[in-house]
Amino acid sequence: MSDWQGMIYLDHNATTPMYPEVRQALCQFLNTPWANPSSVHKMGLKARELREEGRRRVAKLLGASPGEIVFTSGGTEANCLALFGVARAYRERGRHIISTQIEHPSVYRPLERLREEGFEITFLTPNRQGIVEVEKVEKALRDDTILVSVMTANNETGALQPVKEIGELLSEHPAIFHTDGVQALGKIPLSVQDLSVDLLSLSGHKIGGPPGVGVLFVRQGVKLEPLLFGGGQEKGWRSGTENLMGIVGLAEAVKWVERDLQKSETLSQLRRELAEGIQEIYPRAKSHTPLERSLPNTLSVAFAGQDAQRLLLQLSQQGICVSAGSACSSAVPKPSRVLLSMGVSKELALSTLRFSLGYYTCSEDIPKTLKALKKILS
Ligand code: PLP
Repeated sequence: MSDWQGMIYLDHNATTPMYPEVRQALCQFLNTPWANPSSVHKMGLKARELREEGRRRVAKLLGASPGEIVFTSGGTEANCLALFGVARAYRERGRHIISTQIEHPSVYRPLERLREEGFEITFLTPNRQGIVEVEKVEKALRDDTILVSVMTANNETGALQPVKEIGELLSEHPAIFHTDGVQALGKIPLSVQDLSVDLLSLSGHKIGGPPGVGVLFVRQGVKLEPLLFGGGQEKGWRSGTENLMGIVGLAEAVKWVERDLQKSETLSQLRRELAEGIQEIYPRAKSHTPLERSLPNTLSVAFAGQDAQRLLLQLSQQGICVSAGSACSSAVPKPSRVLLSMGVSKELALSTLRFSLGYYTCSEDIPKTLKALKKILS
């Protein structure tokens, strides 16, 4: 089933194909009359029940309580709400924020914007494996630090960050701790009881759900200034009539996340075969992914001496979908900020492809991909 419309799809970190069960749930939703969940009549109550069922399912998956789940329009909005929301709510306490050079643009850009608004941002650099060490966070912490934002797993390299350790470090500090868990959900177990995070961002289309829906987990007691003002939906944190269809799809996807987590060993094995195969075909290849400390599905590899954009298009012609660097920046051939911050040269960064496998990836996909690469590279 990874032979998706005749293609081998190895770009799951950009978006995942929807689960068939999600498609089914969406069709059923579209064929049923529905109302505004804020309406007080019978149909409104029915809509509200659907929304609350979605909230309960997400909360259960994360080990949170339903009151801590805020629906958003996606991962980007969840990140923006977390960052602007905390900065504005706690600005009287301090103006220092700690984050990293490897964050997704939906964290990095809002922080640059906050810098323009007078906040001081410390962007920590990762080590050569793309991991930001907890000691660096400890050194950067100050009395006036109000927010620490470190992603759970990087979207380009798959490197896992020491989020649990950072949470433990911050248990002695009043700073709010946010993590962008968009790439981690569905690939590794994620529980807000294990991780001492105050805020966690998620996105529907990275877990087999629809795009345009996301979640911000907000631990009870954390203050947030809203981004959107209006009807006061989502306890006032996110005004606007809820995307009920998106919530229904997300709730269905959440059901299957735990089942698919069981397959992460298989995924990891397929990725290893791909990594070893690439090394054999092209000995100058250099992996940026720390295989022992990364998401099981992601492999970022530099094909030294090659142009990643060209390779990507040639692979696409052979029916294989991958991306160069991160999907969001792949339209512009600029070296990845994430790779540069790891000490990778500009040339190597521009020769880097990201392969991201998914739960529909099957064992035949790997030799087919390697065969195509061999043909192109020879
Ligand atoms: N955070 C990370 C780590 C991502 O990889 C992405 C999407 O690529 C986002 C946030 C943005 O999520 P969305 O596309 O739902 O806005």
